[in-house]
Amino acid sequence: MECIFCNIVERKAPADITHEDERCLVFRDIHPEAPVHLLVIPKKHVSSLLELEDTELGGTLLLCAKAAARKAGLTGYRVRINVGKQGGQIIDHLHLHVLGEPAKSN
Ligand code: 5GP
Ligand code: ZN
Repeated sequence: MECIFCNIVERKAPADITHEDERCLVFRDIHPEAPVHLLVIPKKHVSSLLELEDTELGGTLLLCAKAAARKAGLTGYRVRINVGKQGGQIIDHLHLHVLGEPAKSN
């Protein structure tokens, strides 16, 4: 089945990519709910947190979220995962939302 986030990983679909490493990719959400709204995804297709069994990948995604948030100028932020239809998950490729506002410099 066609997966939009897999297409972004394969550069078949456009995205504003801000960060990546060997196992994860980070790009800006097209409908941001905060001044900075990033999506952190595994490069390998995992449909949701319900399907995640790789503990190392889970840790990698969290550290990837932290690195991407820092890069985006966030010092405090929220990390959210919508799990399954009842949890508000629309895209069936595991993703962490990183939401925040860059700290004001003076
Ligand atoms: P969910 O409700 O599944 O946790 O969140 C999916 C998120 O993906 C939504 O916030 C939505 O705006 C975002 N989104 C959906 N399609 C695309 C897309 O093609 N590109 C990007 N950058 N974000 C998308
Ligand atoms: Zn996918």
